[in-house]
Amino acid sequence: MSSVNTTIQLITREQAEAVRVPGQPGRTQESCDDDLAKGPWEFDLAEALAGTPGYGPGASNEDTAPPATPVQGQLPQEYKDASDDELEARILSAKAKLGDRVVILGHFYQRDEVVQFADFVGDSFQLANAAKTRTEAEAIVFCGVHFMAETADMLSGSHQSVILPNLAAGCSMADMADLPSVEACWAELEALYGTEPDADGRVPVIPVTYMNSSAALKAFCGKHGGIVCTSSNASTVLEWAFERGQRVLFFPDQHLGRNTAKAMGVPLEQMPLWNPRMPLGGNTQEVMDAAKVVLWQGFCSVHKRFTVGQIEQARVDFPGVRVIVHPECPMEVVDAADEAGSTDYILKAIQAAPDGTTFAIGTEINMVNRLAAQYPQHTIFCLDPVICPCSTMYRIHPGYLAWVLEGLLRGEVLNQITVPEDTAVNARIALERMLAALPQAATKQPAKEPQPAQSAARA
Ligand code: SF4
Repeated sequence: MSSVNTTIQLITREQAEAVRVPGQPGRTQESCDDDLAKGPWEFDLAEALAGTPGYGPGASNEDTAPPATPVQGQLPQEYKDASDDELEARILSAKAKLGDRVVILGHFYQRDEVVQFADFVGDSFQLANAAKTRTEAEAIVFCGVHFMAETADMLSGSHQSVILPNLAAGCSMADMADLPSVEACWAELEALYGTEPDADGRVPVIPVTYMNSSAALKAFCGKHGGIVCTSSNASTVLEWAFERGQRVLFFPDQHLGRNTAKAMGVPLEQMPLWNPRMPLGGNTQEVMDAAKVVLWQGFCSVHKRFTVGQIEQARVDFPGVRVIVHPECPMEVVDAADEAGSTDYILKAIQAAPDGTTFAIGTEINMVNRLAAQYPQHTIFCLDPVICPCSTMYRIHPGYLAWVLEGLLRGEVLNQITVPEDTAVNARIALERMLAALPQAATKQPAKEPQPAQSAARA
C-alpha cells in the first residue's frame, strides 16, 4: 500500500531527483534523513552493538537519548525478510485468530502500514480512553510510543497486558524531563515560594505534566496535587490548576505551555523558561517572583521544524490557504497561523470545512498525508516541504506488529510495558484528573471565517 514509509524510501533511493508533491505545482519533496530508507531493525542492531540508545532517523535524529532509554532486542529474521504482503497476511490472520483477546491502538502519527490494522486510531487522549474501555481484551498492542503504552498500562485492568511492538519507540520530548531534575526544580521552587496556601487556599505551585512524559513524572504530579494534560485539554487543565494554585510548573513541552497560557492571557514575562542545568533554572530572583507559569525547557523535534517562513510561503503559493498548526509548534508559528489545536482539532476542522478548502497543516507528516488521502475534496499539505517523520513513531513497523501478535498466539507476551504499582497509584490520580478535564476547542481559534482557497491554486 502507499505510505509515508514507501514514499520516503522512494525519495531516498532517488537521492538527487526531486519528487513532485501531488497537486502542488512548484513544490517538491525530499526526505530529512537518508537512513529512513532502512528497516528500523538496523538501528536496533546498531544501538545494541554500540551499547547506547538512540532515536533513529527522522526529526529527533540530532537529539541525545538518555542512557536509560529502552533499546529493542533483535527482531527475528523471518520478520525482516517478509514482504509487505506477507506481513499483512500474517497480521490479519493472527488478529482474526485472537479476536476480542487483543485490541490494537494506533496513534495518528503512526505510519499507514500499521494504522490499517488498528481498532482505534486517535490522539493520546482518545487512546488513553480507549485503553480504559476495552476491558475484555487481554492484550492491548499500542502502536504509538513508550509513554502512551505506560499510560495504557496504568489505566487498563490488572488482567490486561500492554505491548509496545518496538521498545525503541520512545519520545525525545518526554526524555527531556526526568524525575531527579523535576524533583530538584521542585525543591528550588519550594525554597522560593514556601509550601503554605494563600488566603484563597491556593497552594504556591501546581505541577502540570504533558501526557508526553514518563509514568514517574505523572506520579510526581499525582503526589503533589498536580495533573496531566494533553494537547486537547491543556487550557482546561491550566484553568483547573489556577483554581488551586498561585502558579504552575509545566513540563516537559515549553511550547504547549507557552501557547496555551498566552491564549489564556498570561503575559510572556510571567512565563520564565526553566533550564534544569542552571540554578533557579537560569532565571533571576525577580523573574521568578513574578512567574505565573514556569516552563520546562523541552520541545518536540517534529514540531520545532515548522517556521513562520513556511507559513508565508504557503500563503504566497495558495492565497486563501487555511493554516492550522499543532500547539507544540513555537509561539511565533502559532501566532502566524490561522488556528492552532490538537490532532483531533485538526481532523475535525478538515471534516467540517466546505469542499475545496486548502489546508496547510503543521503537524507530523504521517497524519497530514493520511488526511490528504482521506479528504480528496480538499487540498491538504504539510507546511514543511521536507518529509521528516517522528523518529520514534517510525520505529514501529509491520514486522514488529506481526512478531508480537504471533507471540500472543503462542501464549508469549513480548515487549510488555509494566509500570510499578507504587508509581502507578500516584500517576493514576493525575491521569484521572486529566480524563475529567474535557477538551476545549483549540489553543488558537480562527480570527475570521476562513475562505476556500482560490481554485487556480489547486491545479
Ligand atoms: S511527535 Fe514529538 S512529541 Fe510526539 S512522539 Fe514524536 S517526538 Fe514525541
